[in-house]
Amino acid sequence: MQRYSIPTQAQEEEHLVAPQQTPVISPKTSRKITLPLEGGASDTWNVADDAGQYVTLFIRDTLNEAITQGASDVHFEPRSDCFLIRFRIDGVLTEYARLPFVQYQKILNTIKVLSDVDISEHALPQDGHIELSVQQVVSESTFSAEENAPSQDQTHFFDIRVSTFPSVNGEVIVMRILNRSGALLSLEELGMDDASLAVMRDILSLSYGMMLITGPTGSGKTTTLYALLRELKSEERNIITLEDPIEFHLDWLRQCEIREQRGFTFERAMASVLRQDPDVLMLGEIRGAETAEQAMRSALVGRIVCSTIHANTAVGAIARLVDLGVSRSILAHALHGIIAQRLVRKTCDQCKETYTPEPTNLAHFGLTPEHGPFYRGKGCSACSNTGHKGRIGIFSVMPVDATIQSMIFDQKPLAEIQDVAIQRGMKTLKMDAAVKIRAGLVSVEEAVRVL
Ligand SMILES: [Zn+2]
Repeated sequence: MQRYSIPTQAQEEEHLVAPQQTPVISPKTSRKITLPLEGGASDTWNVADDAGQYVTLFIRDTLNEAITQGASDVHFEPRSDCFLIRFRIDGVLTEYARLPFVQYQKILNTIKVLSDVDISEHALPQDGHIELSVQQVVSESTFSAEENAPSQDQTHFFDIRVSTFPSVNGEVIVMRILNRSGALLSLEELGMDDASLAVMRDILSLSYGMMLITGPTGSGKTTTLYALLRELKSEERNIITLEDPIEFHLDWLRQCEIREQRGFTFERAMASVLRQDPDVLMLGEIRGAETAEQAMRSALVGRIVCSTIHANTAVGAIARLVDLGVSRSILAHALHGIIAQRLVRKTCDQCKETYTPEPTNLAHFGLTPEHGPFYRGKGCSACSNTGHKGRIGIFSVMPVDATIQSMIFDQKPLAEIQDVAIQRGMKTLKMDAAVKIRAGLVSVEEAVRVL
């Protein structure tokens, strides 16, 4: 499969005569957008010609601006008389540009070519992908971007997931911006404490078994999944991932994208992937009974399997797998550990102040005012007056040791399994949150919002 990437500054200077002012990627620019395009639609678009370069440049410029402003999504929306470009910043859509409709088709076509989707398909939704490298970025949009803030002249890679969708006015394009360096955070950087890390590394040092990550949508499971793979990264290991879709493209993994429409389903992939001789297998998500069972069996025959499953707590993941019909004996033997997690906004360091939280909120985490001082962000220019900057994970790591194993096997109630795990040193999500609240990393209110 051929993949196009948007040309870098240097490549452009080599090949491009016009425009006179080559846009420079710089933070906090407020450039006026002009697009030197005339005429209507063209289905035979050539990216290499001059106008193509202009459009490509414009798209790259728009994406740079979106990244600079910390947007998570960029929308290209055709209306009846114009088309809009809107950015989603901190969860809210804001208008970035309003352009004549006549320019839409060229932009649409170029985006389609760049993201490797069928340019002649207008009636059906399509999914594509663009890789973008930029020299300078000021971004706060991704998970814990703060620790990863790029310095000047550093090249950063972004994966842009492109979705086209037919509307009455034409195809709408929505781009999701994923910061690849955000996918390369270590477990420490994600906010996992030393004790949980030691447990995790113990589990991963075994040559087989399954590690599951659980949490609701948007809890950062995928980021943690990649952090686990980073722990397992080694020249001697063949790491294969099955993902739907691939969120971050990484060279040191053998990544495979599931394509349900073409019949390449998780079940189909799982049935063949063991013949690809993997040491480590990563499944984006366990959704169905068959995949769950196949993954568990792979874990029993000498593979490390990492995946995610939708549940609220670590023991909840066990219940979910039982519900799916996975046999308790396979479950007890294959499952080596479960990570439950949530994502919370970190208190801004620049405007952190002490305050007295509501005692009922404190009680939620087993805390009293005597455990203070407690901190919150007052709001400043560094955090756009939100009092929060960056994000951090709240973790609960449950090792499935011999004791827990026999409890799963004996169909013990989940509450009992959880109590025993706590006695043996497991921190619940609330316990981990309490530690982070007392350390001033997270405000009580923010923790209450998520837990
Ligand atoms: Zn602040």
